[in-house]
Amino acid sequence: MKFYNTLTNKVDEFHEIDKGKIGLYTCGPTVYDYAHIGNFRSYIVEDLVKRYFLYRGYNVNHVMNITDIDDKTIRKSNQMGVSLNEVTAIYIKAFLEDVETLNIVKADVYPRATEHINEMLTLIDKLMEKGFAYTKDNSVYFSIAKFPEYGKLANISRENLKTGVSVDSDEYEKDDVTDFVLWKGKKEEEPFWSSEKYGEGRPGWHIECSAMSSKYLGDHFDIHMGGVDNIFPHHENEIAQSQCATGEQFVNYWIHCQHLVVDNQKMSKSLGNFYTLRDILDKGFDPMEIRYLLISSHYRKMLNFSFDGLLQARQALKRINDFIFTLNGLNPAEGETVAITTLLNESEAHFQSDMDDDFNISGALGVFFDFIYQINLKLQELKKQDIKNILDFINRIDSVIGVLKQKEEKMLDAEIEEKIKQRQEARKEKNFKLADAIRDELKSKGILLIDTPDGVRWKYE
Ligand code: AMP
Ligand code: ZN
Repeated sequence: MKFYNTLTNKVDEFHEIDKGKIGLYTCGPTVYDYAHIGNFRSYIVEDLVKRYFLYRGYNVNHVMNITDIDDKTIRKSNQMGVSLNEVTAIYIKAFLEDVETLNIVKADVYPRATEHINEMLTLIDKLMEKGFAYTKDNSVYFSIAKFPEYGKLANISRENLKTGVSVDSDEYEKDDVTDFVLWKGKKEEEPFWSSEKYGEGRPGWHIECSAMSSKYLGDHFDIHMGGVDNIFPHHENEIAQSQCATGEQFVNYWIHCQHLVVDNQKMSKSLGNFYTLRDILDKGFDPMEIRYLLISSHYRKMLNFSFDGLLQARQALKRINDFIFTLNGLNPAEGETVAITTLLNESEAHFQSDMDDDFNISGALGVFFDFIYQINLKLQELKKQDIKNILDFINRIDSVIGVLKQKEEKMLDAEIEEKIKQRQEARKEKNFKLADAIRDELKSKGILLIDTPDGVRWKYE
């Protein structure tokens, strides 16, 4: 497998540190509001990458942090007049619900910043002891001049560093490269923790990811992901903190997802050009349509959000679901067809080679849809084992793309069959009111009944 590594600026062959195992860290949400679907583009791309490694047989240990203390969360708690914990609890719950709705595989651990203040302070101690950090006006700062590799990830040349200038803000632009804050001295109306050495205060944003990644994945791990806006300053600062504290390489591969944009502008809270997942579901779209739209173009290309795009995603999903419906409705003879097995093996190999090549999802989906097209031409030739093989293949593909309806959301097939039986009996007894009520109940769950000469069949709308 090979993919683009922001650290080396090129496509690198992947070699894991521990055979068969991958340590993966992804920067999670700042829980001051609902995540928007731009955030979810990054999370879904991370999910695609993780799912592909799982499909390839790797054991993935995935850590996603939750930023529940920073300038934005504090501002929101002051605006709402409730404690920080109450605010963040609302949005952590909403985030985890959205993760489930979008069929994102849960991380192994979602560590919260406020529960790791001691780990952060220990890391700050190390940086102080080794001379990489200094105190000023009750705060602690990292001295970027002390780390010769500072700027390597974001390609910043050393003459652009404003060494010795310190800032408290967690986010700033590339043309303002300064010493950054590790521990912020206590301010009015801000929550604080006590530190014996640095006094009362709270951590900066960047230190949480260095402290929590090393706690759960070790000082040196395989892959770190996030959106491109995380490259600078956040990830650059994580590298500085971690490598200066441990003296060893922090992460081998950095993967960054390009932005979801609206009219060429990053979808963001501050520009106001955003939709939350809930906004789009309220307009009648299905979560799988959103997921499909967000994975279906290459992660290193900007993706322009449009409702037209969602309608195209709907069409693509319909093709897959109709195909499965058709396969399930065939009445094949026993046996297996060599030509079908060959087509299936070739398609899967092609799907893999595309995904192995920097997660070329457009190519991989193209192979999948071409496969559907080819099989649709040969439906009458299919034998029983062919259909089973094809359905298994679709399941394997879906273990990577995760866009087919989730079983647990649906009624069990047996429950649906039972309802259909009840409806047939009601019709026989000329109890049309009950028969219609059963049909409507199934319809409300997205299940469509189709009367055929062989009896009633059903499918999801
Ligand atoms: P934040 O809550 O702002 O820290 O962002 C959480 C994650 O979403 C980070 O990995 C960001 O890089 C990512 N992100 C924010 N906006 C977008 C966007 N418009 N498109 C893709 N990813 C984004
Ligand atoms: Zn982070």
